[in-house]
Amino acid sequence: MGRSFIDRTDPTFDDLGRREVINVRCNCGREVQIAPYQLIGQHGIQKHTKVWSLRDRFRCTKCRRRPPADFWVAKWQD
Ligand SMILES: [Zn+2]
Repeated sequence: MGRSFIDRTDPTFDDLGRREVINVRCNCGREVQIAPYQLIGQHGIQKHTKVWSLRDRFRCTKCRRRPPADFWVAKWQD
């Protein structure tokens, strides 16, 4: 199972810092970065939702496949 570059066990959305983003890469090559606050309030996601629980629910908007090939949390790169 994919693990975060940031070594924390099963964080919630609330645990993520402002400068951290969720990265998702699909088998088709599509890669997206999502700021946690953009997801809160959507799809039943709340501050106490576990970040990794999202992995299995994420569906690629390009090819409609799921789950993604890679799922990780990283510092935002300017
Ligand atoms: Zn895809």
